[in-house]
Parts: sequence; C-alpha cells; structure tokens
Amino acid sequence: MERDLYRIDDLLLRSAVWAALATALFAAGLVVVGLARGAPPSGADPGLAMLLRFALPLSMAVSASVGLLVAGIAMRRREKRSHAVWRLLEQNLELYVPDLVANSDLGREDVERTVRRLNNRGQGLWVWDRASDRVRDGRLESSYLHVEKCDVCHASISVRVPASLREIPGCPYCGDPIGIEHLRELKRDALAALREERGPKVARAPAAKRTRPFSLPLFLLLLVAFWPAAVVYAWWQWQGADCERPG
Ligand SMILES: [Zn+2]
Repeated sequence: MERDLYRIDDLLLRSAVWAALATALFAAGLVVVGLARGAPPSGADPGLAMLLRFALPLSMAVSASVGLLVAGIAMRRREKRSHAVWRLLEQNLELYVPDLVANSDLGREDVERTVRRLNNRGQGLWVWDRASDRVRDGRLESSYLHVEKCDVCHASISVRVPASLREIPGCPYCGDPIGIEHLRELKRDALAALREERGPKVARAPAAKRTRPFSLPLFLLLLVAFWPAAVVYAWWQWQGADCERPG
C-alpha cells in the first residue's frame, strides 16, 4: 500500500525542534560575536547589546519555532480524533452522530473530516444520512432485510426492508408497520455479515492515488521564506491527506 514517508504532523513537530535549535545557535553566535567585539561605547553588556541589535530576526525565529510547535500539536490531536472516528465506524458500521458527539470528545467536524478522507481514499463508502444524522457503511444503503413473518398478525409474508431502516413498510395483511425490534435483530445479523466481509477486503484495497502529493522542498522553501506559509501549506495538505490505518 502506498504510504507517505512521513506524517505531516510529525514533520511540523520536527521542524519546530530544528527551528528552536537554529534559533538557540543563532542567539549563542550573536552573544559570542558581541563578547569578542567588546563593550559598546554606551557601556552596556556586549552580549546583550548584540542580541538587541538583532532583535527582529531573533523574534521571528522564536515565533517560527512556537508557531510550528503549536500547529504540529493541533494537527496531531486532530489526527488522533480522526483515528478514533475511523475505529468506531469500522466497529459499528453505523453511527448516530449526536450520540457520538455527546458521549465523547469527538466533534461533528472530526466525523466530517474522517468521512471525507476515507471516501477520498477509497476506504469503502461512508454515507452521511443527513435526515437521520447517521453515518453508515454505504453497503447498508443498498442492502435489504428480508422479513418473513409479521409480528402483529403472525402471517407469513415476504417483505424487503431497506437495511438503513429509512422506510419501514407495513404488513400486506394487517397493514401494521413491521415490528422494529424484529428489524433491529435482522439488521444486527446483516451488520455482522458486513463486518466479516470488510476485514480482508479493506486490507487489500489499493489506496486511491494522491491528487496533491506533499512536496518537502516546497515546504522547506516556504519555511525559510515565511514560516506561516509553510504551516498553511502543511495544513492544506493534511486536510486532503490519507488517513493512516488505526492500530
Ligand atoms: Zn401483519
């Protein structure tokens, strides 16, 4: 499976460390040069005077380190939340989004992002049913449950019900809607069958080709020229990046 050589959040955090090291070296170099030159006419501390002379580039270097660090941490946290959503989707095949949001630290935007990325990558098809606010495996949209007996009048029937349970038809004999408990049971079986199917298939599914490959030279160029542009570039790339399979 085609994989990125590095993860973008890793790259940002590593860049932050390098930027901090470079900043420290730069500052140390300035102090050494200042001391070598000796005290300025004003009589101020020679090392400090040199640092103050280069206050602007120094503060830019410091802000770059901090900015990269903050962006890297934010991205890593989001990446972790994406993995959590992915794991839940794989386990359940259907999620009621308000329940998920209420009972976890995950937000609606985490679900949105994960669904978008999985679909972009070709990791199955996840459908967000806006009417019921559920995200479900696309195969549930096209599968049917077969009901053979009416719970109300006990007649033998043959009714197909969409596995999404979006519409529940009535019994052709008594007209009552098919019992929801019975349908849920059938759906549990259908979900179990789909889960069985999913495992090996996903492992073999080829990753969709990246439409915008990450360019390390471009990132470094932006980093040197104007670091916020590098952060924006990394962020933009990450939004469209593949998810790595959660462990
Ligand atoms: Zn009936």
